[in-house]
Amino acid sequence: MDERKMQILKLGMKSHDLAKYQTILGLVADGIFGKVTEQHVRAFQREQGLQQDGRIGPLTAAALEKVGKVSYVATEKPPTGKFQLSERSRQRLQGVNADLVRVVERAISISDLDFMVTEGLRTAAQQAKYVAAGRSQTKNSRHLTGHAIDLAVMLNGELTWEWKYYARLGDIMKQAAKDVGVKIEWGGDWRTLRDGPHFQLPWASYK
Ligand SMILES: [Zn+2]
Repeated sequence: MDERKMQILKLGMKSHDLAKYQTILGLVADGIFGKVTEQHVRAFQREQGLQQDGRIGPLTAAALEKVGKVSYVATEKPPTGKFQLSERSRQRLQGVNADLVRVVERAISISDLDFMVTEGLRTAAQQAKYVAAGRSQTKNSRHLTGHAIDLAVMLNGELTWEWKYYARLGDIMKQAAKDVGVKIEWGGDWRTLRDGPHFQLPWASYK
C-alpha cells in the first residue's frame, strides 16, 4: 500500500475500497460509509489502540488488512427465502428502532425456522401490568423505547417454547445482526432470568 496515495475514507463517502474493509469489520460490503460503518471503525480503532477518529486512514487501513488476513472468514449466508414476516409481525415492529427492524428482516430472510414478532414497542401502562403480574422484573425495559423485541418460533404454524429452537433462533439473529452491521443482545445469553424470545439493542450504543 502506498501511504501517500491512499485516500482517507470517511463518513458520507462511497468507495470500492471501503467494501473490503466493511467485509473485514463484518459489515454489509456496500461501499457506502454510513453511520454504522463509522461506529464499527471507531470500535475497531479502540480495540487496536488507534486514534478513534472514525476514519480509515493509512494506519487504520493497515490494521484492518492485518486483521483481515489472519482471522477473517466469510460467514454471510445467502438468503433461504423460506419464510416471511406476517402482517401481524410487521405491525408489531411499528415504533421499533430501525436498526433492530433491519436485523429481524435479515433474520427471516436467512432463517430455516419460522418465527413471529410477539411484541415490540410497549406502553408504560402495559409494562406496569407485566411487572405487577411478575412477567417483567423491571420498569426500565428496552421495550418501552422501541429498543427490544420478542420473537416466537413457529413449527408448522404453531408456537413452540422448546429451548432448542430458541438457541437456534439466537444464532440466526446474531448472524443477521452481523450481516447488517448492528450489535444486538440476546436474552438467552443472560445468566439470570434467561429470556430466549427477547432481543435488544445494547444500552451502550443506543440510549
Ligand atoms: Zn422482551
